[in-house]
Amino acid sequence: MKFSPKIFLYAAIALGFMAACSSDDGGNETPTVSKTANLQGTGDSARDILSNEDFDRLLIQIAHSANTKPTATTINNFSAFLRKHTFKSNIDIEYLQITPPSSNALALSDITDLEKEHRTAYNNGKTLAIYIYFANAPSEDDDEDEGTFTLGAVYRNTSMVIYQNTLQKFDAASASLSITDLETATLNHEFGHLLGLVDLGTPEVEPHEDNEADNHCNVEGCLMRAELRFGNAMAKMLTSRMGKGKPVIPELDAACQADLRANGGR
Ligand SMILES: [Zn+2]
Ligand SMILES: [Zn+2]
Repeated sequence: MKFSPKIFLYAAIALGFMAACSSDDGGNETPTVSKTANLQGTGDSARDILSNEDFDRLLIQIAHSANTKPTATTINNFSAFLRKHTFKSNIDIEYLQITPPSSNALALSDITDLEKEHRTAYNNGKTLAIYIYFANAPSEDDDEDEGTFTLGAVYRNTSMVIYQNTLQKFDAASASLSITDLETATLNHEFGHLLGLVDLGTPEVEPHEDNEADNHCNVEGCLMRAELRFGNAMAKMLTSRMGKGKPVIPELDAACQADLRANGGR
């Protein structure tokens, strides 16, 4: 690596800061963190997540507040989903408890501000870093009259938010669905968008995009169905699956799987 004087100055400052808060002085590596690679558009890193061509390790940083941490089973389910559809086998999960400002509803700008303040995991060498925030307040776009309660959203190539507070409300309202069911379905669905589905960075092998809901799948029962965007529709879908004796969490259908494979996935 060649250092420009400017980069060297930043590195020296960073190193000085490190020394001030860490007793580990054995490292020779200069910590230069570039955030640019993680500030791209949604779906832009689909192939990098799916294949091991440029990155062979995933670091998933899960930011949460005291009462919005996902269950251990959810994270196991999510890891299994990643191992099934991507070639990443080296996957590390890192929890980051934060104290967000109390608010009644979150705008996307609130979420990106929190990320800017708290996220510490960025791409580094062959490690691709993902940031997932389990929020303590609902989306400001929720519409009580329309019954649209947003469960999660992706907003950059390696960033997403899960409205955990909203999932908890649907969990409380459902006799049969567990918080793990709701978390897993939402997490896997939103991550499907980071994998570029449907036609969001991963091209379609055969057309199967929903005409009425961009970047969602028109195949019944698929994980990427538009029903998984909103609380009422998702709770209905999962409860119906349960009633029919199907696995509660929808899987990716053949069309979505073919797209992922064609873009470097497993
Ligand atoms: Zn979606
Ligand atoms: Zn599909």
